Amino acid sequence: MRILTIKRRTIIIFLCVLVCLVMIGVYFGLKTTSAQPNIKPTIVIDAGHGGRDGGAVGKTTGVTESLLNLQFALKLKELCENYNFNVVLTRKDMNGLYSAFATNKKKSEMQKRQEIIESANPDVVVSLHMNSFPVSSSRGAQVFYAEGNESGKALGESVQNALHEEIDYAKSVAKVGDFYVLNCTEKAGILVECGFLSNAEEEVLLQDGDYQEKFCYALLYGILTYFSM
Ligand SMILES: [Zn+2]
Repeated sequence: MRILTIKRRTIIIFLCVLVCLVMIGVYFGLKTTSAQPNIKPTIVIDAGHGGRDGGAVGKTTGVTESLLNLQFALKLKELCENYNFNVVLTRKDMNGLYSAFATNKKKSEMQKRQEIIESANPDVVVSLHMNSFPVSSSRGAQVFYAEGNESGKALGESVQNALHEEIDYAKSVAKVGDFYVLNCTEKAGILVECGFLSNAEEEVLLQDGDYQEKFCYALLYGILTYFSM
């Protein structure tokens, strides 16, 4: 009888301890959940050039690279926001990023891009440009990453693959490129030359809204693939 009473008491004590442990677990579990930040990847989308620096110019239509870079950046921004990215643009309009008083406008502009990237503390940086080359037959999108930046290389390969699959004439291999906007950060950064303004057919395509949309979807697909790796 006494043994049974002791046993029952032991079981009751054990159950009480178990209930307490569960309650403590639930309390801390809830506390951890409520304290968790909203996990949203941050992307800096950098539209190259701007202001008095128009970049490359289309030979047939006279379109400027700075305008196309901005159009692509705004389209990519919208798509990324639909996929729950926190998006930071370096340039939101056609104005240059340089200080009006700077004697060296290029240096001032690049420093501003670097400042924006640093304060955004992003997961990825995507800089958008249009290419130009003396040989008019050259065409196709090319992705660059900074030498020695492994995450940039992984992002670059992922985006280049997506472009190669979705966009005609896009190159198949991402390359190392020596660009300030890539060299100024340790983050996963790429520079995308979306196409050649020196190629008559691509000059027209790059201005087409549907083509821009398709291109930006391919960019997003490549970026999402990088995050899933
Ligand atoms: Zn450019």
